[in-house]
Amino acid sequence: IRNGGQAYLECGKPNNGGTKIFSVSGDVEKPGNYEIPLGTPFSKLLELAGGVRKGRTLKAVIPGGSSSPVLTAELMMDCTMDYDSIAKAGSMLGSGAVIVMDDSRCMVKSLLRLAYFYAHESCGQCTPCREGTGWMHRVIERIVNGQGRAEDLDLLNSVADNIQGRTICALGDAAAMPVRAMIKNFKPEFVHMIEHKTALVPAAA
Ligand code: SF4
Repeated sequence: IRNGGQAYLECGKPNNGGTKIFSVSGDVEKPGNYEIPLGTPFSKLLELAGGVRKGRTLKAVIPGGSSSPVLTAELMMDCTMDYDSIAKAGSMLGSGAVIVMDDSRCMVKSLLRLAYFYAHESCGQCTPCREGTGWMHRVIERIVNGQGRAEDLDLLNSVADNIQGRTICALGDAAAMPVRAMIKNFKPEFVHMIEHKTALVPAAA
């Protein structure tokens, strides 16, 4: 306030002015809230948060709250923390709630937890969200329980497609996007669990 709006704008980068508070959680040594200029490399934010848990490597990041599409470590390490860079990588900066996931994470079990949350939160007012969130949760649950079917990934994408853009509030989109992104970016883990009835990464989500 003392330095004026222009000075604040110049903290960031063109089209992404100012600072943003990122709430970093998950597999980092120092989870917490970090205010940084927009356009700061993700690697710098990760460093501020103490880096990935000791002995582990970065696997994935959900960069803008649980509804934003997950990105692989490779994509994320090339990103700067601003709206344009994260959108170009295929996700959203959203709320700034950055969830860091290391190589101990099973993405199928992680998606099950997210799907449970959105199915639980659906208020039931509109049909695609009311029916679709529960449907997606049940399909992911059967995959985790070793009862997945070869066609389940297409089914999940189809249900997500039929939710996204067809609901009254944003929760429908928020439920659909993680499903599509997890399958797109970590498909081998889903296929392995369906075919072998066990996780490729045998760890708790
Ligand atoms: S999209 Fe929103 S309004 Fe519609 S059922 Fe889901 S939570 Fe309710």
